[in-house]
Amino acid sequence: MASFRTLDEANLKGRRVLLRVDLNVPVENGRVTDATRIEAVVPTIKEIADKGGKVILLAHFGRPKGRDRKESLKPIAAAAARVIGRPIAFADDCIGAAAEQAVAALQPGEILCLENTRFHDGEAKNDPQFVAALAKLGDLYVNDAFSAAHRANASTEGLARVLPAYAGRAMQAELDALDKALYAPARPLTAIVGGAKISTKLDLLGNLLSKVETLIIGGGMANTFLAAQGKAIGKSLSEPDLVPAARAILAKAKQTGRELVLPVDAVVAQKFEANAPSRVVAVDAVGAADMILDIGPRTIEHVVSVLARSKTLVWNGPFGAFELEPFDRGTIEIAEAAAELTAAGKLVSIAGGGDTLAALNAAGAAGRFTYTSTAGGAFLEWLEGKALPGVVALKIAAAAATLG
Ligand code: AMP
Repeated sequence: MASFRTLDEANLKGRRVLLRVDLNVPVENGRVTDATRIEAVVPTIKEIADKGGKVILLAHFGRPKGRDRKESLKPIAAAAARVIGRPIAFADDCIGAAAEQAVAALQPGEILCLENTRFHDGEAKNDPQFVAALAKLGDLYVNDAFSAAHRANASTEGLARVLPAYAGRAMQAELDALDKALYAPARPLTAIVGGAKISTKLDLLGNLLSKVETLIIGGGMANTFLAAQGKAIGKSLSEPDLVPAARAILAKAKQTGRELVLPVDAVVAQKFEANAPSRVVAVDAVGAADMILDIGPRTIEHVVSVLARSKTLVWNGPFGAFELEPFDRGTIEIAEAAAELTAAGKLVSIAGGGDTLAALNAAGAAGRFTYTSTAGGAFLEWLEGKALPGVVALKIAAAAATLG
């Protein structure tokens, strides 16, 4: 498979390095409430600075329509400076005179953050003129934002076409972990797909089914599969329109000899709220007024036994309505089992997606997984088997550099 160039191959000394990072962090009342994404890019920023590069941070924030002070990167740059423990200068625009002056003032080893790239519509349009205005500011381009790589934007894709392009350390780690998990995994390979709906994950289910030995389906989406098997699911969340799609997936699994695991029992309640009175029933004994809100103990036991005979696990989506106690039980117990198998060296475990990480964090298991991806959309598109434009551009740039 074509590969990309890393910082090991970049000549950074004295060069202006346009570094695309993900600073799209949660902010409440002007304060960053979760700095995970900032922490992820610290090694790349420090390495470039320590090798004498001039670090110029490029990032988007929110979904502004034009210039909007509420979506300025300025407070986030200040938070990043605190996390890194080094000063970060700030320019009020990412192109034009303000940016050019700030870049000209930058010394080797210093860091500058440019204003939100989305203040210009050339970013989302990948407009060549906007790309050229950005490219003018740098000698080379480093992309460390895997989570934005599913978008063909100017700062995520366009720049890789016009400047020597490299993957940053976070991007490199993410691609190494993900490629290994899905394309060269230790087998048997098992995938868990949970969450609310099949409609958002149809492509993903199709792609995974062609790659794994076992596909475990949980969460609200399992209800539609149960309905497809002719079971009564009461008032559970489901997508009746997608019953035929669920049937097709069941048939494909059978045809191709893949194991498809569905819940055999469930925790049901009549209200969608924390601590609603609940009981455990077999999946063919769900009452007309019941809602399936979690998997039951027999299903947990079965899933754990599948994990025990797996060598690689890829996980997206919770097993139940994990935000509401006690309907987080199934997700927590399976996360704990996967974390223990990983710690014992028996399982390579990869998980990703916003809700999935929230659930694994709540279970105290995320830190013991082999790799957790903070990318939402990009992680899902990777699971769907789609080529991510930002990654493709890095690979094309590397191939072009090899050809000379
Ligand atoms: P997703 O974003 O597709 O991964 O879905 C995550 C959401 O699915 C979470 O908010 C869960 O509460 C929800 N969910 C999972 N299982 C169920 C269920 N059985 N009934 C209702 N919601 C569920």
